[in-house]
Order: sequence, then C-alpha cells, then structure tokens
Amino acid sequence: MATGVNLQSVSKQFKLGRKPVDALTNINLGTRKDTFLSLIGPSGCGKSTILRMLAGLEAPTSGQILVNGLTPTEILRHHEIGVAFQDSALLPWRTVAKNIRLPLEVAGIAPDEGLIDELIDLVGLRGFEQAKPAQLSGGMRQRVSIARCLAVQPSVMLLDEPFGALDDMTRQRMNIELHRIVGERPTTTLMVTHGISEAVFLSDVVAVMSPRPGRIVELVEIDLPRPRTPEIMRTPEFHAYEDRLADLLFGIETGLAR
Ligand code: ADP
Ligand code: MG
Repeated sequence: MATGVNLQSVSKQFKLGRKPVDALTNINLGTRKDTFLSLIGPSGCGKSTILRMLAGLEAPTSGQILVNGLTPTEILRHHEIGVAFQDSALLPWRTVAKNIRLPLEVAGIAPDEGLIDELIDLVGLRGFEQAKPAQLSGGMRQRVSIARCLAVQPSVMLLDEPFGALDDMTRQRMNIELHRIVGERPTTTLMVTHGISEAVFLSDVVAVMSPRPGRIVELVEIDLPRPRTPEIMRTPEFHAYEDRLADLLFGIETGLAR
C-alpha cells in the first residue's frame, strides 16, 4: 500500500459567479509516511485548498488524491486525518478535556480516557483539563486544538497556519513544542505557513507555491539532523535554507519566477 500523502495531476477550479477561477493546476505532490511537509507561498496560491481537498472538504476538479492509498471519502470514514486551523475553533462552553474528546464523540468512537490524558500531557496542558477556552492564552488554545486533532489518532495531520495569530515569542515556543510532539508521536504532517524559519525548523520538505494559477514551483529538502534544537536556527546551514526560500518567494512576489 502506498503510504503518505499523494496528489497526482490535481487541479481545482472554482466558479466565481460564471467566471471560472483556476485555484490549482496540475499539482503533483508526494510525501513519505511520518515526514513533515510545509506549504509556503503568497496568499491565494491554493495552500488551504490543498489541505481542504485532503480533508475531504472539497473535491478536486481533476486528478487523484490518495492518503495511505485511500481516497478522501475513505480517509474520512477511517478517521485518517486530523485538522487544526489558525483560529482554533474550540467550543467555548466545553472544557479543555471535552474539546479534545469532541472528534471522538462526533465519530461515534468511545473516548479512551487514557488517550485523552496522554494527549493532555503531550501538549503540556496538565492542570488545565477543566479550564474553558476563555481562560486560556492563545498559545494554550492552539495546544488544545493540536491535541484535539490527534484525538482520532490520525495518520495524517493537516495544520493551516496553526500559529499565525500568535505573537512571535509564543509562536517560536509553539514550534519547538510541535517539533517535540511530532518527534514523540510520528505523524505525516502537512503545514501551511507564512513563516520561513518555522518552515525550515520543522520540515523535511518545503513546497514553495506560486499563485494564478496555483502551482508548486520548487520542493526544497531540508537536510538538517533531528531532533532539532533552537540552537540550529543560528547555524550557517539553517540561514542558507532561509535565504534560499526567501529568494524563491521574493522571485514569486516580484514575478521573476514566472
Ligand atoms: P491560500 O490558502 O494559499 O491563501 P486558497 O486555497 O484559500 O489560497 O485560495 C486559492 C484560490 O482559490 C484563491 O484565488 C481563492 O480566492 C480561490 N478560492 C478558494 N476557495 C474558494 C471558494 N470556495 N470559491 C471560490 N473561490 C475560492
Ligand atoms: Mg489559506
């Protein structure tokens, strides 16, 4: 069985009134099991659309999507996918523990309290199980959202700008946490981000995208040893990757890469 995520010649067209919008054209993208891939590119290049198609929320106009050899419909049925988006979308009247349990209830799976407990420890929220979202900081709410996304024990985790709304310091801390989480619980991960350094820090591969129509212009392999520590961000190798991605994105923004 093919493992990881696989998009083959995937295109997506939206209709805006009667005008067709080519959101994505001919996307070919494969990741290996338990690797971390980031999607980076200017706004409107189709990053969220890729994640939404993988989550089965949109169908591709043409092409094929497989996750561990399953189609999006099968993926949904088998609870292979966990999603966490920028705005953590927690239910305000539910406690932390009950928010984390929610996807299991929705899926009709009996919540295993041992697993919920383990997830609370994994994301560092011990002591806050009974807190409501309003009593938490933005960083803590995103931790809940990551734990919730892991509740169905998905083989693939989709993160759409998960820390986009956080201040820089919190964001850096959350990246270190996320690195630890995927280290402890290997999961094939696709993350959309605008942050060049977080993409380098977390990823095995960074896919650089360009808009109108959305396409992948380059796959940059991040060949840095794991586990990665914050100190790695000060090495020449790390800076070289940041420069490479910044050059590619600058080229796209100024039209040089067209
Ligand atoms: P990104 O996440 O990279 O900013 P999106 O995937 O959200 O980009 O959008 C890609 C393109 O598709 C944009 O031009 C956007 O306007 C268009 N688009 C996305 N969703 C819809 C929709 N439901 N209807 C019409 N157009 C859409
Ligand atoms: Mg988006």
